[in-house]
Amino acid sequence: MSKHGQRLLIVDDDPEIASLICDVADGLGYETTAVTDATEFKRRMGDDFDVIVLDLMIPDMDGFELIRFLSDNQCTASIIMVSGCDRRVLNSAGQLAEERGLRVIGTLTKPMSIGALETELSKTPAKQPAHNQAPLNRPDVNQVRQAIFGGQLRVHYQPKMNLKTGSADRVEALVRWHHPERGLLPPSMFLPTAIEANLIDALTLQVLDTALDDLRTWDRLGLPVESIALNVEAGSLSDLALPERIMDRLSVHGVSPDRLTIEVTESNVVGTLTEALEILARLRMRGVRLSIDDFGTGHSTLTQLERFPFSELKIDRSFTNGIVLSPESRAIVHSTIGLAQELGLSVVAEGVETYRQLEMLIRAGCDEAQGYLITRPLAAADLESWYNTMAGERTSRAAVENLATTGFTQDQAACRP
Ligand code: C2E
Ligand code: MG
Ligand code: MG
Repeated sequence: MSKHGQRLLIVDDDPEIASLICDVADGLGYETTAVTDATEFKRRMGDDFDVIVLDLMIPDMDGFELIRFLSDNQCTASIIMVSGCDRRVLNSAGQLAEERGLRVIGTLTKPMSIGALETELSKTPAKQPAHNQAPLNRPDVNQVRQAIFGGQLRVHYQPKMNLKTGSADRVEALVRWHHPERGLLPPSMFLPTAIEANLIDALTLQVLDTALDDLRTWDRLGLPVESIALNVEAGSLSDLALPERIMDRLSVHGVSPDRLTIEVTESNVVGTLTEALEILARLRMRGVRLSIDDFGTGHSTLTQLERFPFSELKIDRSFTNGIVLSPESRAIVHSTIGLAQELGLSVVAEGVETYRQLEMLIRAGCDEAQGYLITRPLAAADLESWYNTMAGERTSRAAVENLATTGFTQDQAACRP
């Protein structure tokens, strides 16, 4: 693809490498500029570049300082990181840069081949807004209370696709806030406030009510949704009456407990874990399934796996994301699947975005997948259309059945990133 008109900055103190990158980039149609030291780099940063090829070791500044500098200057260019160091150092730098809101689109270790350079430079997309734009103001407690009790919460659903059968009969409920002025807000904007202000149980029960209501509607419509998953923060679980309240809701809606999975998310509040353990164990005893969410990150650890009677394990999306390119992530995914199988848990991979990831997960023996590749979380009405359209049929059932048995069709291979 021609990059005609796109501006590329090369930051490398090795003239031979800089000239090689220049040649390849010129060939692809870029307008290229090369700099060799930190002072020149800082001076040119005021110019508007689409892509920066960044050597992590230039005189007067190491890679981590460069990353901080770019982040502090709200750099919106796509970045390709280059280094002669160990590949794992390069990966750490890439992750750090992403955490600082930079848009890293690739990494290259020196010495690099012309082919590898061409591949990285060809995939650079047009410039996008930075991730680290000024954060929107967090709503205060009164606004969150108003959202919960004023009917402003909405529930979206994301299917989990069974990789053995190709069906997508389990969905996860994800809360949203339909803010009167700001539109649909994600949970990260209001969950922390809801937890701090002790409003989380009210929110959980409301999400449960809505999801059970929707489940009954789907039953009437003949949609193939077998069960729903509800997210719960372990650290917020302290009300020992919660199991009764959940069981009441199930009974009011006429839904059997084995159609509900509770996804337990990270808990920072170690002090309440005894209560959490009792609450979750009581729910499990009555037939509700328990899932350990974001496994491998934060407090979602082996200790939790031993303490709580889980039936499902969800591999955090950071590992799914790395499964193709990072041998470390791939090893973690493989051993987690092995561990889950040994413990008799089913495994869901979160955040599946590409066919290649899906293919590797199928090969690794993963049970279910969830992610934008299958579909983004959808409002109830859109989920109904998703199930009813050919698109849903093609992306979920047919495609995976095909993948699981015969591998990629040419059509799907063409969709591979
Ligand atoms: P989670 O339970 O791990 O949910 C997965 C999150 O990843 C969702 O974000 C989903 O939209 C997003 N996601 C799904 N597929 C992909 C993908 O392919 N790529 C990427 N980049 N992201 C993907 P969301 O809806 O913003 O929720 C964030 C977190 O908020 C959830 O993480 C969960 O911990 C929490 N949460 C959501 N709804 C509720 C709720 O009703 N109650 C509680 N307590 N927590 C909730
Ligand atoms: Mg979840
Ligand atoms: Mg998760």
